[in-house]
Amino acid sequence: MKKVILCKYGEIVLKGANKSRFESMLLKELRRRAARVGEFKIYYAQSTVYVEPIDPDMPESDFEEMYTQTKKVFGFAGVTVAACAEKNMEDILRVTKEYIPEKLAGVKTFRCVAKRSDKKFSLSSPEIAAEAGGAILSVMHKNIKVDLHNPEVEVRVEVREKEAYIHAGQEKGAGGNPLGSAGRGLLLLSGGIDSPVAGFMMAKRGMYIDALHFESFPYTSERAREKVLQLARELTEYTGRIRVHVISLTHIQEVLRDNCDEDYFTLLLRRFMMELAVRLAKEYEIPAIITGESLGQVASQTLQALCVTDAVADIPVFRPCIGMDKDEIVAISRKIGTFETSILPYEDCCTVFTPRHPRTKPMIEKVVAQEEKIDRAALLEEAWDSRYSVVIHQFED
Ligand code: ATP
Ligand code: MG
Repeated sequence: MKKVILCKYGEIVLKGANKSRFESMLLKELRRRAARVGEFKIYYAQSTVYVEPIDPDMPESDFEEMYTQTKKVFGFAGVTVAACAEKNMEDILRVTKEYIPEKLAGVKTFRCVAKRSDKKFSLSSPEIAAEAGGAILSVMHKNIKVDLHNPEVEVRVEVREKEAYIHAGQEKGAGGNPLGSAGRGLLLLSGGIDSPVAGFMMAKRGMYIDALHFESFPYTSERAREKVLQLARELTEYTGRIRVHVISLTHIQEVLRDNCDEDYFTLLLRRFMMELAVRLAKEYEIPAIITGESLGQVASQTLQALCVTDAVADIPVFRPCIGMDKDEIVAISRKIGTFETSILPYEDCCTVFTPRHPRTKPMIEKVVAQEEKIDRAALLEEAWDSRYSVVIHQFED
């Protein structure tokens, strides 16, 4: 039996004249992944991308791996494995009987729906659905019932241009828009829970992600850096590739500790981080910054504190977690597979020399007055010179 993976468009169906640009991004991303799995013919028609093994005897495990990959491609609302039939009712029923019962194992109720994009097909959609439903009942006997209103599983028969496709239990796709359709963003990546989620969310909206991590060696360890690289590696499951830039804040933090009012440490540090991030973004022609901040989560994330940080940024700063509770962020982090790494207990540069009473309603004038006590420009230059980067690929050999 010939099988094919069907990937159904999400928001792309709404695109007008640009649609084919989005479609070619979807194909590019699927082909990149397929190249590691096996030989597939990948093409689109009627708001669906078809991923078809070239060798009909492809090992099931390779086919399954490709299916898993399709679930991580942004831009699809749903994915499913369908069995192919010739465009006549006899073959459609033959394939339905052969393919669908295993999909309905242990299921108590189903309904069958049909879609006919080939209007010349001899039967109407309701007729196709009724016949296919009858065929399923005839082979599954009394073990299953039809429930038209609230079935456990929906079986679909789609009569399309070339062939008919029969499938059951379509799964949710990754959603969002194709990678690259929304440009690039520079993710400030700490070792915490929130920033990988923020990166994922913007990648889902179509952004390629670069990451910037600040470290403070020897106050932060080699293992803390490894943890961040591991988080980036986990994000590449979705983004394909991430360049991780690393900048050292050690000297800045020591100078702040020795010269400035402790209550302002975090704010002062965050302004250094933001300014370095903007400079790096411009150097790499990245138009926006992304952080994992959530309003009011900690002292540096009050509205006033965020304004003080943003005052040094002259490019957009995206904060996709801004309106989310921690438990909502955690739920996404578990879903995308970064949570277990995020909770490894290594220190972050933001947690060394943390003030006992951080300012939650800072006034910008007071922050600037603190900055006047140090040679900010020289410190920025020194930190800038410490930068290096590594590129992480989803498939590393
Ligand atoms: P996270 O779980 O992402 O670490 P958090 O709640 O611990 O977030 P903060 O430590 O205040 O919050 O950091 C807020 C945001 O600032 C992070 O989400 C991240 O975008 C950025 N950030 C913090 N520390 C670093 C770092 N060492 N390197 C790069 N970015 C950082
Ligand atoms: Mg953090």
